[in-house]
Amino acid sequence: MAMALIRYMKTAEAIRFNESLRIPVKWKQAKTVSGVSKRTGAPIQGKVGHVLLLEDWGVREKGEFLCGARIRNPLAHQLFNMNEWDVEASKYQRVTCQRCIRAAERMNQNGAR
Ligand SMILES: [Zn+2]
Repeated sequence: MAMALIRYMKTAEAIRFNESLRIPVKWKQAKTVSGVSKRTGAPIQGKVGHVLLLEDWGVREKGEFLCGARIRNPLAHQLFNMNEWDVEASKYQRVTCQRCIRAAERMNQNGAR
């Protein structure tokens, strides 16, 4: 019970934090994917949670990370990150990329839509 409660509170905090970024277009929290595990078929992910744009925002386009993190494996990115079935669930995890967070602040200050 206590563990479930802690998990719930962490999720609520993450959602609140992600909302505070005030990103005005469709986006999800996502990690870079460098490839696919041959053994399990699971994505090989980076550790940092980025803002992944699902619509254009300012100078950034749909499919890009807000911080401009390089997409090294476009096919795996397309396959694992660009689907939209987990848009809301992805935000149960906090954006941890400081460059994405700063970019969101900067773009909101500049009034990019
Ligand atoms: Zn980022």
